[in-house]
Amino acid sequence: MADTAWERAKNQLKRTAQRVELDPLLLAECLHPDRIVSVSVPIVMDDGRVEVFEGYRVQHSNILGPYKGGLRYHPRVNMGEVEALAFWMTMKTALADVPFGGGKGGITVDPNQLSEKELKRLTREFTRKLAPIIGPTFDIPAPDVNTNAKIMQWIREEYACIVGKDEPAVVTGKPVERGGSEGRTEATGFGGSSALLAFLARLGKDPAGMTVSIQGFGNVGKYLAESLSTAGLKIVALSDSKGGIYVPGGIKDIAAVEACKKQTGKLNGCYCVDSVCDIKNKDELVQDISSEDVLTLPVDIIVPAALEDALTEKNAPRVQAKYVLELANGPTTAEADTIFAKRGITVIPDILANAGGVIVSYFEWYQNMHDERWEKADVLAKLKKQMEAAVENVYTHARKHNVSLREAAYIASLEKLRQGFKNTSRLSHRVL
Ligand code: NAD
Repeated sequence: MADTAWERAKNQLKRTAQRVELDPLLLAECLHPDRIVSVSVPIVMDDGRVEVFEGYRVQHSNILGPYKGGLRYHPRVNMGEVEALAFWMTMKTALADVPFGGGKGGITVDPNQLSEKELKRLTREFTRKLAPIIGPTFDIPAPDVNTNAKIMQWIREEYACIVGKDEPAVVTGKPVERGGSEGRTEATGFGGSSALLAFLARLGKDPAGMTVSIQGFGNVGKYLAESLSTAGLKIVALSDSKGGIYVPGGIKDIAAVEACKKQTGKLNGCYCVDSVCDIKNKDELVQDISSEDVLTLPVDIIVPAALEDALTEKNAPRVQAKYVLELANGPTTAEADTIFAKRGITVIPDILANAGGVIVSYFEWYQNMHDERWEKADVLAKLKKQMEAAVENVYTHARKHNVSLREAAYIASLEKLRQGFKNTSRLSHRVL
């Protein structure tokens, strides 16, 4: 069977379900999303042509609360991918201990090919198509790849027009001045850093000076790099979809790299600008590299923070790191996972490592529902605490069952879902 993200997720689920003797009705619910919605989104382009885009929303499970999950705009978006991403959201919210279920959506589009006006029209029309199935207590979208606070605000405005009142909690990840939460933008990167540091502390390892290479320099990759740098780790490589940079001595100023990328439109060449590296001690090895090479460098930790299937049977044998911190969703194929296990490489799995975004999304939703505003320091402190609790939970399950962190994370999530399922008396032996 093809190793699509969704097949892989289902196989992992079935294996874990067997181990924990999951109720067959709950397993069936997990293997089959509650609702799959496919929509056509026709819009008028700036030149007067009409173009039709395909959009999706998958509502996987609401056993533990309203469906929750991002919207992705990318040419590779397809139904199978969205199903896998929605399932992982269910597992992630359960593990992160937030009262949400799992959902995901997206549009098959390259947003870089659209003008801002076209992007806005597309988002508004997509919202009209989704309006009957979203809402602050039913399904709450958020940003994902190529979507951001501005797009979330457009969705909120269109939704208000449709239902006749403003419902800020219909989406999370809004601009802070429009009801978004302080700390939401950096939440996934900061949360990933908190998870890594908590895990290393659990192993008794000193993170100071450990080297890190990051694939994906978007929202998640950037804030992770900043957070880990602040914690004393050395970020030696970064990449985006077009290429990357390798600075063996460590990138000194992540913000300077970002500014350089903004100015030049690419990461390549963004080394030794201002404070990025110390020009006097410039290492001969400072160089441009490809997006793929960033994962096989001689470093302590690699971080796939871009898209699915970044680590496969092709590059896994060449990975030199001891730890893989999965900040992208589904970046490791089943074959790569097996290779890592054999080679003693520890994978900190996506549903644990990248849960920071949904945790602060919950904080944002809570603030909107209760008309509260929390300080950034409070948000990040609460986030750190919740990530540390999730790491402890996964670590304990891994020790107890003698399994990988990924399997332990699945066990912990399924235990939480089982409890929620029991609370609603929906078990297979209760047929009345
Ligand atoms: P983003 O759009 O801000 O950034 C994506 C980055 O990946 C960009 O730098 C892009 O150039 C790069 N990229 C794309 N294809 C690449 C390739 N083949 N090689 C190298 N780099 C490539 O998206 P994001 O919000 O940072 O999300 C990144 C990942 O994290 C996704 O898998 C997403 O599902 C996951 N995630 C995001 C959040 C969140 O809060 N944004 C939460 C949980 C998980």
